[in-house]
Amino acid sequence: MKPVLALVGRPNVGKSTLFNRLTKSRDAIVADYSGLTRDRHYGNAKHSGQEFIVIDTGGFEPDATSGIYKEMAKQTRQAVAEADVIVFVVDARGGVSAQDHDIANYLRRLGKPCLLVANKAEGMLEGAHLVEFYELGLGEVLPVSAAHGQGIRSLLDLALKPLNLPDSPDDEETVPGVIKLAVAGRPNVGKSTLINVWLGEERLVAFDLPGTTRDAISVPFEREGQKFELIDTAGLRRRGKVFEAIEKFSVVKTLQAIESANVVLLLIDATQGVTDQDAHIAGYILENGRAVVLAVNKWDAVDDYQRELVKRSIETRLAFLKFANMHLISAQKRQGLGPLWASIIQAYKAANCKMSTPVLTRLLLESVQFQSPKRSGMYRPKLRYAHQGGMNPPIIVIHGNSLEHVTDAYKRFLEGRFRQAFDLVGTPLRIELKTSA
Ligand code: GDP
Ligand code: GDP
Repeated sequence: MKPVLALVGRPNVGKSTLFNRLTKSRDAIVADYSGLTRDRHYGNAKHSGQEFIVIDTGGFEPDATSGIYKEMAKQTRQAVAEADVIVFVVDARGGVSAQDHDIANYLRRLGKPCLLVANKAEGMLEGAHLVEFYELGLGEVLPVSAAHGQGIRSLLDLALKPLNLPDSPDDEETVPGVIKLAVAGRPNVGKSTLINVWLGEERLVAFDLPGTTRDAISVPFEREGQKFELIDTAGLRRRGKVFEAIEKFSVVKTLQAIESANVVLLLIDATQGVTDQDAHIAGYILENGRAVVLAVNKWDAVDDYQRELVKRSIETRLAFLKFANMHLISAQKRQGLGPLWASIIQAYKAANCKMSTPVLTRLLLESVQFQSPKRSGMYRPKLRYAHQGGMNPPIIVIHGNSLEHVTDAYKRFLEGRFRQAFDLVGTPLRIELKTSA
């Protein structure tokens, strides 16, 4: 599992600037998918080959006592408690504030690796203004400038060091033929209801999966000849034979469940429509290239008017998941659940699809013949051949000349052609353009 680094600090110290710098590869992905939400507070980062998750805890207010702030503070505290390492950001120019002391006290009590970072330190004499931060009782303070990219490398060296990470963390115990399935969604969307209905089904047969004891919540089962492993799902715990939502929503657990899944079943609550949190989770699924199936739960509880609203909110807010199948279900009334399985298997197969170079190239050239890319000034992009650059999610690499002039619209046109030809439903598809010199 990827380790989690949480950015903590009072407002305006530069957390989101630092977040953007740490997760900068994200921008490229965001640009690839129209409508993908940009205001997310968690993302992927990489340092010296080590991948990790960064969470920007936003307005961290340990003493907030009411309403939305209270809820925010609760989730922030939970994220901090579950993170592997904390980066506490202070303002090198603003000096130590009372709020910094509150946060420092809170972090010291947690007793987990914590790195104190003084941001906005560009152009300041090394150490000169930083002595006062020692009174926070968190040891060394590291000067950085998120805006100018200074000190970031040292920050990551120091932050990740205490984690003693293995060299190749990617060797997850993957058993071929077993689909790792995560059910994701906000609190109260119906995750535990659905899972318990599943686990109560006669058609579902439990089996032993070697080497998975580490993950207490993993549930291996077989259904109509296909093996699945239901993996840890946010906020759920197994008590004997039933799943219960004993703790509420956890960002960290959701992210880790998505990371380790082959297919994510994303539940949306029909009575609520698509919320920001839904869009954020969906964005993270896409960013990680996970196969996905959408299910709108509690369909029984909404009237025709609300149904229209929900459908429209999915079309607009989750436009970037157009490639995924959507099901309208009621976990409680056990309606519409059967077809989920076919979509889950289809998404898994699509994510692992093998595409040969000759077939890809022929498809590419046929597509160009059907509709050629637009000339841009003096340049007309020339698409020559294509090959598969990866699986899970599938990546198609296209080679040619002047490909930097290929428009997004044309890329989408090609994506549509490839999706249709290979029946790629339920998986993200990445298209990379490589211009030859
Ligand atoms: P957050 O509220 O902690 O997420 O802070 P932001 O990232 O939104 O930054 C607050 C302000 O500080 C913005 O105006 C940033 O441009 C500025 N800022 C962020 N990092 C730096 C830095 O390294 N140096 C300077 N001088 N300003 C910075
Ligand atoms: P979780 O937090 O995502 O695990 O959600 P739960 O499974 O605990 O469900 C939250 C609430 O929604 C419970 O009161 C369920 O009875 C209710 N619920 C779950 N599925 C449905 C459904 O299909 N229709 C309706 N009307 N209510 C449902």
